[in-house]
Amino acid sequence: MANRARPDLWIPHSEERWLLVTDLDDTLLASDKPEDPLFATFADTVKSADELMVVVNSSRPRGSVLRTLAGNRSVQESGFMPDGLITAMGTEVLIFDDEEESIAVISDREWQKRFDGWDRREVVNTMKAFKSRGVRSHADEFQARFKVSYSVPPEVQDECAEAIQRLSQASRIVRSGESDFDILPATAGKGSATLFVADILGIDIPNRLMVAGDSANDVAMFEVSRHGIVVGNARSELVRRVDKEVAFHSRLPRSRGLLDGLQHWGAILDTVNS
Ligand SMILES: [Mg+2]
Repeated sequence: MANRARPDLWIPHSEERWLLVTDLDDTLLASDKPEDPLFATFADTVKSADELMVVVNSSRPRGSVLRTLAGNRSVQESGFMPDGLITAMGTEVLIFDDEEESIAVISDREWQKRFDGWDRREVVNTMKAFKSRGVRSHADEFQARFKVSYSVPPEVQDECAEAIQRLSQASRIVRSGESDFDILPATAGKGSATLFVADILGIDIPNRLMVAGDSANDVAMFEVSRHGIVVGNARSELVRRVDKEVAFHSRLPRSRGLLDGLQHWGAILDTVNS
């Protein structure tokens, strides 16, 4: 991609390096719990695998994700820190420096300039018309500059989608679960942001990019990688939409399923039995 021409974004290329881009809630960690007993083994494995990078890719905005990582006892005890964060459904991107984790090599500006002209207020104004049909805005914690999040009853979703697609600005709509309904710029999303980050990190995308998830808002990631990992606790809404040729379906839950997948794709030689 074009960013290769920018020396300040260049990170030395390694043919051998693997990248795992993983969803957070109920993939890397149990959601709504302050700890996850499965996580320590994953964290230890990642720490010992020098050629494996991990980027978290969440539908939630960065502040919300950072609060979760900082507030989770298992994460804190393990000392785990991802190499980057893709947040707000692929509308925010942050890659940490290789040596000094607190320094961002790249932040939102490079990624978000392609969303110029997309105005969330147009989405908000359009969706107001559906308030009487049970459409509700998600809490502020889940909103971002380039992501507008709603709860939309299933029977109203198609009408909302049509109204959004009639706007002059091109949008992508991501549906997940019973009623989660997210509206983003058309060029955003968990999949396109995954490719952007993998390219900057110098990953051999066809051979060394793995993605992992548990729900329908992860589908876009599985569309850009030939090395998918569907965790054992995944919802059927993801399982039925992911091509089995390019995704390994683990029977093990969350980060234990990730280890299973890393082993399946050859990114680690063996899982740690503990
Ligand atoms: Mg999830």
